[in-house]
Amino acid sequence: MATNKRIAEATQESLHRIFTIPEAPDSTLGAIEQEISQNLAGFLGNHIVATEQRLTEIEKDFACSAIPEQPSFVSDHMHHLLDKLVAQSVHTSSPSFIGHMTSALPYFILPLSKLMIGLNQNLVKVETSKAFTPLERQVLGMMHRLVYQDNESFYQQWMHSANHSLGAFCSGGTVANLTALWVARNNLLKADGNFKGIAREGLFKALKHYGYDGLAILVSERGHYSLKKSADILGIGQESVIAIPTDEFNKIDCHKLHEKCLSLAQENIKILSIVGVAGTTETGNVDPLDRIADIAEEFACNFHVDAAWGGATLLSNKHRPLLKGIERADSVTIDAHKQMYVPMGAGLVVFKNPAAVAAIEHHAEYILRKGSKDLGSHTLEGSRSGMAMLVYASLHIISRPGYEMLINQGIEKANYFADLINQHQDFELITRPELCLLTYRYVPQAVQQLLAKADDEQQAEINSLLHNLTKFIQKRQRENGKSFVSRTRIEVGRYQGHKILVFRVVLANPLTSKDILLDVLAEQIELAKESETFLPKLLAMTKK
Ligand SMILES: *Cc1c(COP(=O)(O)O)cnc(C)c1O
Repeated sequence: MATNKRIAEATQESLHRIFTIPEAPDSTLGAIEQEISQNLAGFLGNHIVATEQRLTEIEKDFACSAIPEQPSFVSDHMHHLLDKLVAQSVHTSSPSFIGHMTSALPYFILPLSKLMIGLNQNLVKVETSKAFTPLERQVLGMMHRLVYQDNESFYQQWMHSANHSLGAFCSGGTVANLTALWVARNNLLKADGNFKGIAREGLFKALKHYGYDGLAILVSERGHYSLKKSADILGIGQESVIAIPTDEFNKIDCHKLHEKCLSLAQENIKILSIVGVAGTTETGNVDPLDRIADIAEEFACNFHVDAAWGGATLLSNKHRPLLKGIERADSVTIDAHKQMYVPMGAGLVVFKNPAAVAAIEHHAEYILRKGSKDLGSHTLEGSRSGMAMLVYASLHIISRPGYEMLINQGIEKANYFADLINQHQDFELITRPELCLLTYRYVPQAVQQLLAKADDEQQAEINSLLHNLTKFIQKRQRENGKSFVSRTRIEVGRYQGHKILVFRVVLANPLTSKDILLDVLAEQIELAKESETFLPKLLAMTKK
């Protein structure tokens, strides 16, 4: 009993202490902060991308399901985290980590994040965020202007208007796409006569009222899976997301899109939205947005652009024309946590019409009162952090020309890497970069020659062996931990549209040097030689 009481007292005392900032200059806090900084500096400076420990090994450190009955000292727990967690995490900031859209962050993000977390503002309502609310509205205004380029008086009129929103800030591209389609759905199936609108009466009654046999979302076959999730949640079903074939440049085939629109009209299926992709996740290509806008206009339907990854390209005056037509979209998704170098949790969607969000407006008695400027009345998420501050700060500190340099250099580097691959006799470039993303695979010269003259059946056999070889190399490279590229499967026109496994590279880290790119290829050639079955089999085929 006595020990229990002592533990309770000590817990009570430390509970009080962990909510007050320690005063003593020699406090453990200072020591801990120093240690974290040193550790993080070492971590960030380290060019190794991953540890050698296997996931199943690491799982053993996270196997206990009991919530501790005894408190720990903060400093002790910190050591536990550094040892078990930090040391076993992935170095996404390494310049040789070039496989994903998650990359390095500018140094100033760290202290700013601490400020943001420390203030713990809740953007759902003005009462818990005050200045953060106008700041977020300004960020949405800046991003809206980046896309739509309306004039100054437009922004003066709408940016801080209580009953309007130029956009919605959210946790990422998935929620941004869902929000955009939610707004589109509710505007399409709005109140009409006796019908009180889909938001109140639901999809079943809405379809009956409007006399539609179904709804469809049209996007290229390279569309992001978040659109299917959205269709599921919005009640129209994943199969209502119709994948339109792409051309040899991974862009939506507008002729086929137009044909599909015609046939859906005949089936009495209403198009909820045509989604253009500005920067596909797998190949980084941009759909012909202007032509999609024409088709959306012809069929009087909503036009959304998923620019989660590629939207930041608008910051580059040089490459902005690639996205021409985006300004005709009803809504646009952009992830600041991708090419804007902001940490994760920073997605947003902007709306051409500032009144469009009225279709999803929600009010409650204790917050989000009618006429209030509470951001929560127009967002899917409730409680939200002050992430907009990090976008705001980055836009000021880096500025548009700074972003332009980052974007342009990434694209130049991708083109350099593509040339390198093209000139190398043992590699095959699969998709040319349009932005800073490309795909390729390792194919020894003799195998390339064989592929070129092979019939369909033999081609399939070779590609199947190459599939295994690519997978082998990619896994070994990741396990070795010196560099990291990702892998994906895409249909390739010159192989009769069969799905081909490829390496995927995203060149977003400004510190990735040409030497690193050369090393990545050299390492892949060496790793291929370690394959005891696939490479020998392929080479044997060339000697037949
Ligand atoms: C990353 C991405 C998404 C999803 O964004 P999250 O932030 O991961 O939720 C959607 N669409 C595209 C094109 C993307 O690249």
